Amino acid sequence: MTKREGSGRTESGRLIQLAESYGAHNYHPLPVVVSSAQGVWVTDADGKRYMDMLSAYSALNQGHGHPRIVEALVEQARKVTLTSRAFHNDQIGPFLKEVCELSGFDMGLPMNSGAEAVETAIKTVRKWGCLVKKLPQDAAEIVVCSNNFHGRTTTVVSFSTDEQYRRDFGPLTPGFVTVGYGDADALERAITGSTVAFLVEPIQAEAGILMPPRGYFKRVRELCDRHGVLLVLDEIQTGLGRTGRMFAFEHEGIRPDVLILGKALGGGVVPISVVLASREIMGLFKPGDHGSTFGGNPLACAVARAAMRVLVDENLARKADESGRYLMDKLGSLGSPRIQEVRGRGLLVGIELKRSLGGARPFCERLMADGLLCKETHEHVIRLAPPLTIQRSELDWALERLAKVL
Ligand SMILES: *Cc1c(COP(=O)(O)O)cnc(C)c1O
Repeated sequence: MTKREGSGRTESGRLIQLAESYGAHNYHPLPVVVSSAQGVWVTDADGKRYMDMLSAYSALNQGHGHPRIVEALVEQARKVTLTSRAFHNDQIGPFLKEVCELSGFDMGLPMNSGAEAVETAIKTVRKWGCLVKKLPQDAAEIVVCSNNFHGRTTTVVSFSTDEQYRRDFGPLTPGFVTVGYGDADALERAITGSTVAFLVEPIQAEAGILMPPRGYFKRVRELCDRHGVLLVLDEIQTGLGRTGRMFAFEHEGIRPDVLILGKALGGGVVPISVVLASREIMGLFKPGDHGSTFGGNPLACAVARAAMRVLVDENLARKADESGRYLMDKLGSLGSPRIQEVRGRGLLVGIELKRSLGGARPFCERLMADGLLCKETHEHVIRLAPPLTIQRSELDWALERLAKVL
């Protein structure tokens, strides 16, 4: 941060103090105040430039301020931004058709945030349990994984295994059973006649970029088929190119029954999420069962259509695959004694530091001082997840700084 003349402190410092005094302290951000951004670069309130290696937890796969996405935003903003679902609008139909074609599903239900889409998926599979599996009311069980992250609403934190997410927020929502991530035998043991779904992330990003063992999802798919259980994949973070394929399930050679998307669906511009499924499942919703005032609004739908077109036209999944291989290869050859392991897929990369170093936060602070914005995840892991548009020379720029700090 550069000092402002005569003020004795920085503009960034002043703005941080405002946010701290008027805002709830439910986050612990790095002390950087972003005031503008383009592509992989952000500029702070005092004019210092940084590279964004977090991409808003993968909501910015297309990069900051992508011209085609911003253009769609402005163009739509001039026409109509909100109708509610009391009326149709001319963007929601095309958006749903395009997101269904991209993912290979029949129907979608649009919402806003990721957590809302997870809530929607839970309602979807419970409804399916009642109407198709003929379970009595309130009997449905959903199996989830330890160390999961699916959002922060009351029902969703009810099945978190992170103590802090749940403590003081009860009473919690029942109907969830937890099994170890990557443990297909445990899933099989947990399934009962009342199990309607298994809800899981293809890679546990928030837990520290945890990857399941090879063949896990093949077995999960078989178990779900054999026992009449819906496989629900939360691809809010892994989907839309991040892992080197359009969807992470493509690495596994399986398809889920229900797919949840969010984050990069809005191109880093607006919140929009969607739950996708077959007509058999999604067709069970009747008017009044579910809704959202802003869900499927024309502004978000127009932006999402542009965001998907950018992913496809710019081959961002393939770019993520190539850039991710390059990045992991170079990180591996750093030979740093501080690194325990480098793991990931595409541009979802975790550098796990040795436990003896006492956590990744100080390293993220040092990287920030050198112009690289990263965030520690679960204590010991530095997550690297830049926009998928990142160029080779920009990766090298980041690697120079990583090499220095590690
Ligand atoms: C971010 C995220 C969510 C929650 O999305 P919000 O938009 O923050 O509510 C849910 N699941 C996964 C895997 C995520 O990464």
